[in-house]
Amino acid sequence: MENSKIIKHTHDAIVIGAGGSGLRATMGISQSEHSVACISKVFPTRSHTVAAQGGISGALGNMGEDDWRWHMYDTVKGSDWLGDQDSIEYMCKNAVESIIELEHFGVPFSRTEEGKIYQRPFGGMTTEYGKGIAQRTCAAADRTGHAILHTLYTQALKNNVDFYIEYFVIDLVFEEGKCIGVLAWCLDDGTIHLFQSHIVILATGGHGRTYQSSTSAHTCTGDGNGMILRAGLPLMDMEFIQFHPTGIYGAGCLITEGARGEGGYLTNSEGERFMPKYAPNAKDLASRDVVSRAIQMEVNAGRGVGEDKDHALLHLEHLDASVIHEKLPGITETAKIFAGVDATTDPIPVIPTVHYNMGGTPTNHYTEVIAAGDGKTVEGLMAVGEGACVSVHGANRLGSNSLLDLIVFGKSAAETACSLLDKKTKNHIDIKSSTISDIMDNFESTRNSSGDIGTAELRDKMQKTMQRYAPVYRDDETLKKGIDIMHGLFKDFKHVSVSDKSLIWNTDLVETLELNNLLYQALATLYSAENREESRGSHARDDYPDRDDKEWLKHTMVSIDSDGGKKFDYKPVKLDTLTDEVETVKLKARTY
Ligand SMILES: Cc1cc2nc3c(=O)[nH]c(=O)nc-3n(C[C@H](O)[C@H](O)[C@H](O)COP(=O)(O)OP(=O)(O)OC[C@H]3O[C@@H](n4cnc5c(N)ncnc54)[C@H](O)[C@@H]3O)c2cc1C
Repeated sequence: MENSKIIKHTHDAIVIGAGGSGLRATMGISQSEHSVACISKVFPTRSHTVAAQGGISGALGNMGEDDWRWHMYDTVKGSDWLGDQDSIEYMCKNAVESIIELEHFGVPFSRTEEGKIYQRPFGGMTTEYGKGIAQRTCAAADRTGHAILHTLYTQALKNNVDFYIEYFVIDLVFEEGKCIGVLAWCLDDGTIHLFQSHIVILATGGHGRTYQSSTSAHTCTGDGNGMILRAGLPLMDMEFIQFHPTGIYGAGCLITEGARGEGGYLTNSEGERFMPKYAPNAKDLASRDVVSRAIQMEVNAGRGVGEDKDHALLHLEHLDASVIHEKLPGITETAKIFAGVDATTDPIPVIPTVHYNMGGTPTNHYTEVIAAGDGKTVEGLMAVGEGACVSVHGANRLGSNSLLDLIVFGKSAAETACSLLDKKTKNHIDIKSSTISDIMDNFESTRNSSGDIGTAELRDKMQKTMQRYAPVYRDDETLKKGIDIMHGLFKDFKHVSVSDKSLIWNTDLVETLELNNLLYQALATLYSAENREESRGSHARDDYPDRDDKEWLKHTMVSIDSDGGKKFDYKPVKLDTLTDEVETVKLKARTY
């Protein structure tokens, strides 16, 4: 396609992604005098945020005493000390205000008898620095993400945001190291668009679909992270993948941790409630990595449930049916549809399933993208949400801290963007045609590729490789084998075949572009996992069972070249807080 046919748009800022983080950032900028557009490959309210069930954390103290410092302590500990403490302080301290703000925007939270926002217990959330169990997770039944996403979308519409819906962003556009916009394809009419802007905010979500069994939507392909790697920039902490302990056996759909928050518990084939063995204090509400590994250990010891002795059972049937119907209506429906089980009378079969990516595009707490271990930022580029790594979750995310991350840092992105824009001229530079021709050439060569391997076949091989060679427990041998296979699959992309050559609603081409992004991230995950010779948070190495703070109290930064080669850099963990209102959480041995 000739460059002259490309349709041009200019905005002060553009946000890629209309999930919770993208919409919060968009909405914030739309309240200023700066122009903002939001681009999304799916209709905004179909973004994966809609699926979030359990809730959003914040020390409101509506159902017992609470303090944001306790929340910070839990988050640092949950991160296995890899989280950056300045960002964690920022998030936990701003949580209460951000949630009240959501309430005022119109989020229909569940209520206590006195009319306050209802809060449930969640794994790893404690009071008084680990002594008691906190009720800190604000919930709108078990459809909290749905409520937040719809509210933010209507708020953005109220502010007349320019939405470009069902536009697929192909790549970031850079000139002299500065990000100046993106190139996108309108799926509906096949036109190509250049969006030029002073600031680009990536909010493209996680990459759960590198794996075969995942609770994430099929659209969770981490496209922004693919763009970052193709631009020669690094991703951070990609080895840390969270397995949720309770995906429905077989289907992978999520049963929220809120189910255990309401009193649910796990058993093995002997009917034994096994969690107290692994986590005497927190029991079934220990953090997700601990519960996932406990299930895996029960299975490995031959105490798995079912014909193949490969899963566990989650019990809710002892709870009052009215509690289940009122507090957990969504998962009751999911259990019925995907496991054929009535949760009020029978246990639900569950298995650890890929749920969240702690790693992603590195940023500081202002959400500016970081280019290297020394903390240098990339001009014009910001990132938020699951695709970003501001490192509040470190090596393991606590449940209900992601929705909080979206809202707090979505808001921070809007504030940073506005203050940067206040200092900039409004004029846009003339983009050289050579700047975009490389991106267009790549796009056209993918569209016209007619090799001998179909997109679905290659994706299937990638997902099976990740499932098998980068599982809950890892070791050198399996990871090396995984790298070997994945490197071959990465190269096979050159031989992919796209059967539909059109530009109108070409889902074959969309999936192929997404696959390219996934392959980059799968390779980044495997390389980083093999490189980190310790066990920390979700990264459990059989051959290095201990946390090694001497060697590995640092973030992995990995970049991938176009041949699938790797380069590592490291960034120190921020162990200092932003203010003196809270003490640094000191490194400790692991206790659960
Ligand atoms: C089943 C499930 C339940 C969860 N429950 C909870 C919970 O209870 N509490 C909690 O804290 N966390 C929960 N999480 C995690 C949390 O919901 C996610 O981390 C979070 O919603 C991700 O939001 P996001 O804004 O980063 O991206 P998403 O909501 O994933 O949105 C990504 C956006 O980017 C757009 N996009 C992507 N690529 C492109 C492209 N190439 N071009 C244009 N647009 C693009 C998409 O269209 C979409 O709008 C849950 C996750 C899952 C999967």
